[in-house]
Amino acid sequence: MDLFSQVSFPEKKQDMQEQDADATVYMNFMKSHSCYDAIPTSCKLVIFDTTLQVEKAFFALVANGLRAAPLWDSKLQRFVGMLTITDFINILHCYYKSPLVQMCELESHKIETWRGDFQNVYLQCTNHVLISISPEASLFDAIYSLLKYKIHRLPVIDPQSGNVLHILTHKRILKFLHIFGKKVPKPAFMGRTIQELGIGTFRNIATVPQTATLYDALSIFVERRVSALPVVDEQGRVVSLYSRFDVINLAAQKNYNNLDMTMGEAVRRRWCFVEGVIKCYPEETLETIIDRLVKAEVHRLVLVDRADVVRGIVSLSDLLQAMVLTPAEIDL
Ligand code: ADP
Ligand code: ADP
Ligand code: AMP
Repeated sequence: MDLFSQVSFPEKKQDMQEQDADATVYMNFMKSHSCYDAIPTSCKLVIFDTTLQVEKAFFALVANGLRAAPLWDSKLQRFVGMLTITDFINILHCYYKSPLVQMCELESHKIETWRGDFQNVYLQCTNHVLISISPEASLFDAIYSLLKYKIHRLPVIDPQSGNVLHILTHKRILKFLHIFGKKVPKPAFMGRTIQELGIGTFRNIATVPQTATLYDALSIFVERRVSALPVVDEQGRVVSLYSRFDVINLAAQKNYNNLDMTMGEAVRRRWCFVEGVIKCYPEETLETIIDRLVKAEVHRLVLVDRADVVRGIVSLSDLLQAMVLTPAEIDL
């Protein structure tokens, strides 16, 4: 019998709130700091006009070492959305036919063409409103928006000038908490295990076999909308991790015409990646988990048993939900 079938996960909210009087410490910390506090004094920001060709836009992201850019509509004279690696994945998945057929749409389509009818029909989504936040808003509000809208990029826009000051992410917010949260008393739940707290996803984990094709992996990203896939062997043991970020390597190397390569090959071909798989075990404490995530600068840990079989995902979204929103009785 494996470890997980012997353990029952507690009801998260009850567990953290009833046993720890100080469960609201991080919620209050986030409420008392503004987005302005968490943004760097200077950073590189690239903005795309919606008339730019999609291919050029993704090359520009790579050239600037960025993961996302706000979209400017010059006719409307305002920001209308974001272009992220998820959009690149959706575009590749939509237009790919075979390694022998050129994806002409990638070269010919402008961002606005994709954001129009194509995206509506392909993804059945019509909600293209830009989700942004003011620098004066609290980090609590920023976390709420990131989790409620299930996005990973939140532009901070100055209401006076209309300028984008920064793009906030879960990583940036957790790092801020990791550095400055040391000034507040450490809550008791930090010393409890992930298994006791039940933080993460433990069922129906989306994984990809190392023998599957890269196109299969993109299909999982599109259908399940997960941010990363543990790559597994025949026994379900994790051998590597392929995240949505890794797909940008295809633009960097201009080899997105062959999505028939295996996952093993896709993983080997990455030029910018984290060595090994950053994992965690159910009996490790929340504090250990946070330290590992911050040190490795990754968005999630793969929860495994002692045989390295994938048992769950502990993502920054799960941590921010449990540490900040659940104490405010918000369950998204
Ligand atoms: P990634 O993890 O690849 O950076 P996201 O999860 O943030 O991407 O993006 C998912 C989808 O939501 C994409 O289509 C992206 O364009 C859109 N999106 C991301 N951030 C915002 C935002 N702040 N406002 C509106 N749409 C957004
Ligand atoms: P983002 O900053 O866009 O959220 P990610 O953290 O998902 O990016 O990924 C950044 C890089 O770190 C990618 O190359 C990805 O494969 C790698 N990575 C992310 N999580 C893990 C993990 N748990 N183990 C190993 N590598 C990881
Ligand atoms: P994220 O998109 O990583 O911020 O996570 C959003 C939610 O999806 C969190 O509850 C994660 O635990 C969950 N999640 C992330 N990756 C996977 C995956 N591969 N399979 C199942 N759930 C996942």
